[in-house]
Amino acid sequence: MNLGLFTNKIINFILDLLFPTKCLGCNIKNQVLCDNCISKIKLAERETERDIIALFDYRDLLIKKAIWELKYHKKRYLGKRFGQLLYEYLIEEISDLKTITTGRTIFVIPVPISNIKNKKRGYNQTYIMAKEFCNSAPLNILELQNKIIFKKIETIPQAKIHNRQRRLKNVHGVFGIKNEKIIKGRTFIIIDDVTTTGGTINEIIKILKKAGAKKVIGFTVAH
Ligand SMILES: [Zn+2]
Repeated sequence: MNLGLFTNKIINFILDLLFPTKCLGCNIKNQVLCDNCISKIKLAERETERDIIALFDYRDLLIKKAIWELKYHKKRYLGKRFGQLLYEYLIEEISDLKTITTGRTIFVIPVPISNIKNKKRGYNQTYIMAKEFCNSAPLNILELQNKIIFKKIETIPQAKIHNRQRRLKNVHGVFGIKNEKIIKGRTFIIIDDVTTTGGTINEIIKILKKAGAKKVIGFTVAH
């Protein structure tokens, strides 16, 4: 372990002692989002695009608050919790996908943010989610692939655009692809926090399929 990482760990340990985490919903100690609060969150029922599966309804106030805290208030541990939840809730969908992988791992891709945003925020929330999602599974099922898809240019946040056509146009051509040779014949799960029209995930699905991916699906925390 390098010194910087070690120092970070110590700082986080002390912060945890001084300010123990509390459930965002009910304030119970040493929980991030407790099972009881999670069981009360409204599940996503609205129709999503084909091949995109969402867990919770974004109109639910607790889920909205949790995603906000994760993205804008450095509450990275919420990203970890979401990664675990995605795995627990979507284990059947993962099993289905596993049947067509011919024994190879499923590649997991966090929706990338631009370098500028990454520097500003200090982390990509979907990367934290995807990493924990992979760690929740038994070995050799899921493999994090953070370097295949990257964001070439900054865009206006999709949530700020209310017209569907403009949303699709907003993400068209913004993602680039690397390591194309490892994509052919593989299966993929794309991880995102919120989907609205599915434009972002669909754009990545399109790129991966064009490069020869066998099957690509998207998992999101909220819709
Ligand atoms: Zn709670």
